[in-house]
Amino acid sequence: MFGPLVCKPGASRNNRTGSWRMESRPKFLKKDCIACNMCLLICPEACISGQGKNNYDADFDYCKGCGNCAWICPKKDIEMVKEGHNPTGVGLPTPIKEGPKSK
Ligand code: SF4
Ligand code: SF4
Repeated sequence: MFGPLVCKPGASRNNRTGSWRMESRPKFLKKDCIACNMCLLICPEACISGQGKNNYDADFDYCKGCGNCAWICPKKDIEMVKEGHNPTGVGLPTPIKEGPKSK
C-alpha cells in the first residue's frame, strides 16, 4: 500500500493546507504542557511552534486537523474541538486568493 507522495520535506508549505480541515482543529489548553515538543515533532505540516511550557500553538493556515498532536501529547493538553467553534474568527485560515488564470 502506498501513502501520499511528497517530493521534498516542507513542500506542503506551498499550499494552504488549512483549507483541507473538515471537522476538527486542535485546541492547546496551555495548562499542563511540559514543553516536551512531541506535538511539534509529530505534526505532518510542521505548523506547530512554541517554546517553554504552555506556549505552543498551531498555524491554522496549514493545520489540516489530523489530530496527531492531540493523540501524542503525554499530558493531554491538546484537545480536538469541532471546526467552527471560533466566533471571533481569530486563527481561521486566511482565504486563498486565486492567482491569474493561465490561458
Ligand atoms: S491537527 Fe495537530 S498534528 Fe495535525 S496538522 Fe494540525 S497541528 Fe499538525
Ligand atoms: S505534546 Fe503536549 S506537553 Fe508536549 S509540548 Fe506539545 S502541548 Fe506541551
